[in-house]
Amino acid sequence: MMVVGPTPRCGIVLAALALIVGGLSAADPTPPKMRFAANTPTDAQRWQSEARTKVFALLQMADLQASRAPDGKAIPFDAKELRSEDRGKYVWSERELNSTPTRKIKIVLTLPKEDKPGEKRPAVVCIHGHGGNRYIVYDRKSVYRGFAADLAERSFVTISTDVGQHEVYEKGRTLMGERLWDVLRCADYLASLPEVDDHRLGCAGLSLGGEMAMWLGAMDPRMRGTVSSGFLTTVANMRRGHCPCWDFPGLTENFDFSDIYSLTAPRPLLCQNGRKERAPGGFPVEIAEVAMAEIRKAYKVFAAEKAAQLDIHPEGHEFVVATAVPFLEQNLR
Ligand SMILES: [Zn+2]
Repeated sequence: MMVVGPTPRCGIVLAALALIVGGLSAADPTPPKMRFAANTPTDAQRWQSEARTKVFALLQMADLQASRAPDGKAIPFDAKELRSEDRGKYVWSERELNSTPTRKIKIVLTLPKEDKPGEKRPAVVCIHGHGGNRYIVYDRKSVYRGFAADLAERSFVTISTDVGQHEVYEKGRTLMGERLWDVLRCADYLASLPEVDDHRLGCAGLSLGGEMAMWLGAMDPRMRGTVSSGFLTTVANMRRGHCPCWDFPGLTENFDFSDIYSLTAPRPLLCQNGRKERAPGGFPVEIAEVAMAEIRKAYKVFAAEKAAQLDIHPEGHEFVVATAVPFLEQNLR
C-alpha cells in the first residue's frame, strides 16, 4: 500500500508539535471562572447579582455604583443647557452635566414636542463607536443611519454622549469603567427627567457603541430593550486584530462576552451582525451565531429564549434601523 503524506512517525511528530504550538497560542484553555452555568431562574439571578458585583469591582467603579443605590449618596447632575434647536418633531439640545463628583460630560438630548402635556415617553441611550462622537448617531449619512434621529422623530426621548476616548480621565479608574459610567449616567439623567417614563428605558449602539449597549443592558436592569449592533462576538475573536480597548484586568479570566450578554436575560435583546463583516478584525456572523447559542442558554433558563434575537443582515458593519426601531417600539412603547 502506498503511503500518501507524512509517514506515521512524521505524523506523530507533527501532532506533538501542533499540540505544543496549539497550547501556546490558544487564547485561554481554561473556561472563564464565572461562566454562566445556572439551571434554575433563582440560580441564574444569583449568578447575575454576583457577576455584576464582580464586574463593577473589576472596572474599579464599585464606589460610583454605590452612589446609585436607593440609599446611596446620589451625585447631583447640575445640568446646564449649552444650546438648543427646533428640529421639527423634536427639540435638540446640548447639555453639560456631572458624571462623577469631579468630572463633567457633554450630552445631546432630544425631547419630543408635547402633543399631550404631561405624557411620559420611552427613552433610549444611543451610543456611537470608534471615531464617532455624540452627534453622529443622528446622522443619516453615517453607518449609524441616523437611528437616534429616527427614534427622536417617533417621539422617543434620546440621549447620546462620547465614549470614544482612549485615555483614563480619573486616577484609579479604568477606560471601560469610565465609558460604562458615562452611559449609566445618561440613563440616570433620562430617568430623572419629567418627560421620561423610567420604566421604559432602552439602549442601542453600533460597534464600540454595540459593545457599550451590551454593557449598559447587562449592568442596568432598567434597560427594557437592548440593541447591540455590529459587536456580538467572542473574546477569542477580539484578540484577532481588534483595538484592545475592550479588555481590562480580570475580564477574560472570569467571563466571555456571551456571559455579559447573559446578564440581560430575560430582558429583550437584539443583536445585529452583517454578512459583509470583515474576518478577521470584524464581527463575522459565524462567530456571532456561536456566541448567541451561548446567550440563549441563559434565556432558556428563564423560559425566554425568544427574547434574545440575532438579526443577520446582508450589509456590513452598520446599524440596521429596519429591525432595531420596531424592536424598541415593541418593547418600550
Ligand atoms: Zn479602541
